[in-house]
Amino acid sequence: MSKIKRVVAREVLDSRGNPTLEVNVITDNAVAKSFVPSGASTGSHEALELRDGDKARYGGKGVLKAINNVNTVISRKLTGMDCQSQRKIDELMIELDGTENKSKLGANAIVGVSMAACKAGAFHKNMRLFEYIKEISGSKKFSLPIPQLNIMNGGKHAGIDNDIQEHMIIPVKFKTFSEALRAGTEVYHELGRLLKKKFGSQGILLGDEGGYVPKIDNVDGRLELIDRAINNTGYKNKIFMALDCAASEFFYSDYYKIKGKEYSPGQLIDFYKKLIKSYKIISIEDGMAEDHWNGWKQLNKELGSKIQIVGDDLLVTNVDRISQATEDKACNALLLKVNQIGTVTEAIEAANLAFKNKWNVVVSHRSGETEDSFIADLVVGLNSNQSKFGAPARSERTAKYNRLLSIEEQLGKKAGFAEF
Ligand code: PEP
Ligand code: MG
Repeated sequence: MSKIKRVVAREVLDSRGNPTLEVNVITDNAVAKSFVPSGASTGSHEALELRDGDKARYGGKGVLKAINNVNTVISRKLTGMDCQSQRKIDELMIELDGTENKSKLGANAIVGVSMAACKAGAFHKNMRLFEYIKEISGSKKFSLPIPQLNIMNGGKHAGIDNDIQEHMIIPVKFKTFSEALRAGTEVYHELGRLLKKKFGSQGILLGDEGGYVPKIDNVDGRLELIDRAINNTGYKNKIFMALDCAASEFFYSDYYKIKGKEYSPGQLIDFYKKLIKSYKIISIEDGMAEDHWNGWKQLNKELGSKIQIVGDDLLVTNVDRISQATEDKACNALLLKVNQIGTVTEAIEAANLAFKNKWNVVVSHRSGETEDSFIADLVVGLNSNQSKFGAPARSERTAKYNRLLSIEEQLGKKAGFAEF
């Protein structure tokens, strides 16, 4: 048993230059540190990220209130607890907060403590973080994930209204994670070359997740270029495509609007079908808006047997919404974001429920990220088969890929490369 002596947070910056929390869980001989990520296209059912609202600091985005909550009430409550009792620690914070969406203490405060406690627990158990997560989650083995690499950004991550948010590649047909990452990165660079040739230096500007943001208004034009980059690098039939539409951002009560064109839910499904037919799309995330359950049911009915239908804003890593979605047959995969729900324990429960339903689980970053690579250990420890960590560029994204490369080397033959 190793007791928590103190929990201390400080205000630092995320990859967008917005304030966030660094949380330190201090024990007798260790300081375990976590950094809290932040979304832009956040689901309205996510646990609440507490911001100060004081316009005089960071335009109201400061997190001093959340930090104060960590340094006072949370620290007092956790002092003396065994850092290896992850569930107890998380349950205590949930109880202390007492709200449905962690709005009293702030999910950003709670999740930072939860992740740092998890790292402290691993340290004191003399385990690597992914091994410790495997143990506390009850997972049976390790595998390195198939990465979804976001190589062209749109929508909120690029400051564009009514737009598809993420155009991703999925290197599926490879023997190892490192080979898949290399191939995906080569496609990213080839896409950059094609864009530079076509649009000059304006073509290779990057969005929040490190993907290019060229001035191409139609989705076809974007996928066309990605397809060409895949072919030029020789990875045809080995690398496929995926979209995160983030459709809540372009839903207007009963219709959807993409780049000025309106779609009924049925027309939107037809639009996706056309894209799937023209390009090798094997996964669509948030193809419908977060509360448009009928749209989701229809989408999954028509496409769920052919491709992966991923729920992000729909599910918000919340077991109640996952249960609803399994009952309604609304999707067939979970996007897992720890800060959407606010504790490691609840995120593990969400993953385990998805696994129980034979869904795929895609462990995901946020558009606002940090140098913390916690989610790389999480995806391996949970043995979920996919990661979504953005482009293979920018240090807040590569921190996760580089950690996966390190884990792959450490595990050697003890871990396989996941299957789609
Ligand atoms: C997403 O929508 O999957 C995503 C990573 O974006 P954000 O963090 O802005 O919600
Ligand atoms: Mg999403």
